[in-house]
Amino acid sequence: MNYYSLNKQAPNTSFKNAVIKGLAPDKGLYFPERITPLPKEFFDNIDNLSYSELAYEAIKQFVVPEIPEAVLKTIVEETLSFDFPVVKLNDNISTLELFHGPTMAFKDVGARFMARCLGYFNKNNNKEVTVLVATSGDTGGAVANGFLGVKGVNVVILYPSGKVSEIQEKQLTTLGQNIKALEVNGTFDDCQVMVKTAFLDESLTDKMQLTSANSINVARWLPQLFYFMFAYKQLHNQYEDIVFSVPSGNFGNICAGMMAQQLGLPIKHFVASNNVNNVVTRYLISQLYEPKPSIQTISNAMDVGAPSNFIRIQEIYKNNFDTLKENISSYSFTDEETKAAMLEVFNNYNYVADPHGAVGYLGCKSYLSDRPGAHCVFLETAHPTKFLDVVEEVIKEEQPLPEQIQSVMGQEKASVVISTYDDLKRYLLK
Ligand SMILES: *Cc1c(COP(=O)(O)O)cnc(C)c1O
Repeated sequence: MNYYSLNKQAPNTSFKNAVIKGLAPDKGLYFPERITPLPKEFFDNIDNLSYSELAYEAIKQFVVPEIPEAVLKTIVEETLSFDFPVVKLNDNISTLELFHGPTMAFKDVGARFMARCLGYFNKNNNKEVTVLVATSGDTGGAVANGFLGVKGVNVVILYPSGKVSEIQEKQLTTLGQNIKALEVNGTFDDCQVMVKTAFLDESLTDKMQLTSANSINVARWLPQLFYFMFAYKQLHNQYEDIVFSVPSGNFGNICAGMMAQQLGLPIKHFVASNNVNNVVTRYLISQLYEPKPSIQTISNAMDVGAPSNFIRIQEIYKNNFDTLKENISSYSFTDEETKAAMLEVFNNYNYVADPHGAVGYLGCKSYLSDRPGAHCVFLETAHPTKFLDVVEEVIKEEQPLPEQIQSVMGQEKASVVISTYDDLKRYLLK
C-alpha cells in the first residue's frame, strides 16, 4: 500500500517509507491511498475469528507486501498478547478496557506494533534510526516499553516537566538501554513543536534518520482500529446501535475507529470526549477551527491544543462538514465534572474509572440523553492507578498497585532537562 501526504506537496510513498519517515517531507501526515472495505462475510463471521485473526485481516491491506504476510501474522500475535475486555455498566453504557498491556495504557498496542515493524525494516540495515517522540504522559511509557532492546533503534522521549504523573514519569525514565528521556521546561505542545521542528531541520536529518512514534506515524496509528473491532465482537449479538465515546487528545484513537468504520465495521456514531482542551467541540458548533495553547487538566493525556490527527478525520469524511457532523459529536468537560463522574461511576457501578475514562463516560451520557436506544462504549484508555492521586482523592479508597506499575516505582529516574529546540539539537548531535 502506498501513502500520500495530506499536504499534497510530497510524492506518494510505501508503507515502509511512511513508517521510517513518520511525517512527509512537506510536513503532511501520511494517509493510505485506498481503503478497501472488508467483505460482509468477515463481519458476519466475526464470532469465529480470534482477536489476532481479526486484527490481521483488518490491517493487512495497509501493510502487505512491504511486510510479508507471515511476518505480519507474527507481529500481530506478539502485539496482542493481552486482554481487551468489555465491561458492562448498564444496558446503555459499557467500557472497553484498553489498559491490560505492559504499561497499562492503550498506546501499548500501537507502540508494540510499530516497534516490530521498524525492527523488521531495520533487520538488514546498518544505519540506526532514532525515534523521537513527544509525550503528554502515556505515549512515552508505551513507546519506551515497546521499543526497549529493538536493534538499531534509539528512542528519545520528550515530556513536559512536572506535567505527567509520577508513575508515568517512572515508566519512561527508568528503562535505560536504547531509551533516553528528555524533560522539557514547557508544555506538551512545546514538546510536540520541538519534535516537528527536528523532523524538518535538514542540518539534523542529513546526519541522522529520525522518525516519530506519535500517532502521526501510520504504524502507531492504524493498529488502534483493532479496538473497535474487538468491542464490536463482544457486543454485536446484544446491541444494534453501537456508539463509541473516545477520550481524545491528538484524535489518533478516534480517527483509527473511523478507519474501522471505513472498513465496514457497523459503527453508528463517534463521540469525541474532551476535557477543556476542546478545539473540536468548538469546531463542530462554529465551523471555525481555532487551536489554542493547551490547558493542564487531570486528564493530562488529552491536554492537546492542536490535535494532529484532526486533518485525517477531515480526509476520511471528504472535508465535508455535514458528513463529519453525521458521524461525530463532541462534548467537553471540566475537571470538576470529571471528578463527579468518577465518583458516580464508583458509587453506581462499583467501577473505578481513570480521569480519561470518566470523560468518555460523560460523553456517553451526553450523547445518550436524546438517543436512549443506543449502546455507548467508552474507551478506558489507562488503568486508574496511573492517576493514583486524583483517583484516591475522589473515591476515598486506596487502590492496590498492579504488578506492572509496582515494578517501575522502585527504579531510579534518569532524565536530561532541556528548555529550547537548540538544547534538543545539541543533545541529538552529540
Ligand atoms: C493518549 C491518550 C489519550 C488520547 O488519545 P489520542 O489518540 O491522542 O486522542 C486518552 N487517554 C489516555 C490515557 C491516553 O494516554
